Amino acid sequence: MLLGLAWHLMLARSMTGKSKSYDYIIVGAGSAGCVLAARLTEDLRTRVLLLEAGGEGGAKEIRIPAAFSKLFKTGVDWNYATEPEPHLHERRLYWPRGKVLGGSSAINAMIYIRGNRADYDFWRELGNAGWGFAEVLPYFKKSENQERGASEYHGVGGPVNVADPRYVNPLTRAFLAATEEIGIARNADFNGPEQDGAALYQVTQKNGARWSAADGYLQPARERSNLTVLPGAHATRVLLEGKRAVGVAFLRGGVAEEARADGELILAGGTVNSSQLLMLSGIGPAQELKSTGISPMHDLPGVGKNLQDHPMVSVGYLCTQKISLDGAETLGNFLRWLVWKNGPLASNVAEAGLFLRTRVGLAVPDLQLLFGPAYYRGHGLVRRKEHCFGFGPTLITPESRGEISLRSANPLDAPAIRANYLSTDADLRTMIAGVRLARRLAHAKSFDQFRGEELHPGAAMTSDAEIAEFLRNELETLYHPVGTCKMGVDALAVVDARLRVHGIAGLRVVDASIMPRVPAGNTNAPVIMIAEKAAEMIRAGA
Ligand SMILES: Cc1cc2nc3c(=O)[nH]c(=O)nc-3n(C[C@H](O)[C@H](O)[C@H](O)COP(=O)(O)OP(=O)(O)OC[C@H]3O[C@@H](n4cnc5c(N)ncnc54)[C@H](O)[C@@H]3O)c2cc1C
Repeated sequence: MLLGLAWHLMLARSMTGKSKSYDYIIVGAGSAGCVLAARLTEDLRTRVLLLEAGGEGGAKEIRIPAAFSKLFKTGVDWNYATEPEPHLHERRLYWPRGKVLGGSSAINAMIYIRGNRADYDFWRELGNAGWGFAEVLPYFKKSENQERGASEYHGVGGPVNVADPRYVNPLTRAFLAATEEIGIARNADFNGPEQDGAALYQVTQKNGARWSAADGYLQPARERSNLTVLPGAHATRVLLEGKRAVGVAFLRGGVAEEARADGELILAGGTVNSSQLLMLSGIGPAQELKSTGISPMHDLPGVGKNLQDHPMVSVGYLCTQKISLDGAETLGNFLRWLVWKNGPLASNVAEAGLFLRTRVGLAVPDLQLLFGPAYYRGHGLVRRKEHCFGFGPTLITPESRGEISLRSANPLDAPAIRANYLSTDADLRTMIAGVRLARRLAHAKSFDQFRGEELHPGAAMTSDAEIAEFLRNELETLYHPVGTCKMGVDALAVVDARLRVHGIAGLRVVDASIMPRVPAGNTNAPVIMIAEKAAEMIRAGA
């Protein structure tokens, strides 16, 4: 309690000058924040301030698709870790999140997937009017520049460039042939009428380089005089007058500043940070806040709860031929990428995948399996000398729920993340089925000319119990945390269907945290859709 008070007094004392005012202030220039900044400033009379804790993002590894894992644990990464995970032998899992203009879309694996149409219909069934698939499809299309052209499901001319891959490794071709061998149908478009099946992924790239939300939305909008972008500005607290948000306090270059929002303050800091910022501001579970020294301003028990993520495990093999991406880091390949924007460095590593139902009777796929023609263990940070390939079975309909809570009242301390992976038998069962499926694919004829030793789990691990043990030792995040400020009407809902924080005027949350349930697929395109829809609601005064 005393520490919390001391922190706020210190900030108040170092505050400089008079605060400026804007119509809208957006916290976080990630996937959602870039969309909001661009769309809200289309009306040149609307003054917008965009705060971003990270920097501009000039690193070449942001541009080069195959280099994304080189961004991990660098200055563009929040570099979070979970608390010891109770069902994973108390391991702390590394959680990368983008801290740079573009946010996580500047460090992600670029896979363009929307999830299953049933995901959005379910959101609507929970009481969120306007969020059914038919109602959100126009926003997916509005955001998109689909290089294959416009169709019932796709748009052209939007800021998100969606491309077919420029480079496909021979091992990925073998993977696709293997899926056919074991009877998995080819899917011409994961974002079309059906989700099941196998295919090359489409990617958020343009001319063979990453195309983040900052590239598509923010950079063109920065020319507008009504948009102020402040990189290196870390929001520390929502300024409240009674039950109305009137602005934000932030730190820039070690100096405490404030800005006023005449219209609204919009939190777009992502699943970890938006819930943290609400709690730092006294908006959250009152009893919990008190115990960390924060005076509760508004009791909202759901803040930080309902955390969901897609867990993944890497099933890896040695490759008997030197053709994988493991040998791709050469000067020749770099020059090839630099000049022609193709070759192995244009690969997003997870080049292909499939969606599948592991049990009969399921209405939708519960498993996504990614394939990478490379060694990918420990987030690509563990390297081997040999050439390898690997499968990433991923649970896309998790039952496990975790939570985010404050560790302290200091806004610069990371919050406590408890993902609670594999806390239900059903989640474990699906992951075990995923490991078995990876092995079936690896033993298909198409891999005969490439398959070497199984590195992990290792051929000796065959029983369900042994595979479960492998999962407890090796499971990682597929980087899709959502849900900590969920949209809804129940007691744990944080925002309403217009993404306005329940009980606080002038405050919205617009990012991955508002998802009531994680979609069955990668989350970047859904976040961008959410921000497109939110921007339209805000502009319409809704
Ligand atoms: C390594 C990795 C790989 C991924 N791969 C894929 C993929 O291939 N396909 C896919 O669809 N999805 C992928 N994802 C997930 C996807 O990128 C995210 O779901 C999406 O980007 C989240 O968007 P967001 O706007 O909610 O948050 P973010 O994009 O994370 O943006 C939040 C922004 O807010 C800033 N911020 C936070 N707190 C503050 C504060 N207090 N003050 C100021 N600024 C703040 C952050 O620095 C950040 O820039 C991946 C994610 C990661 C990390």
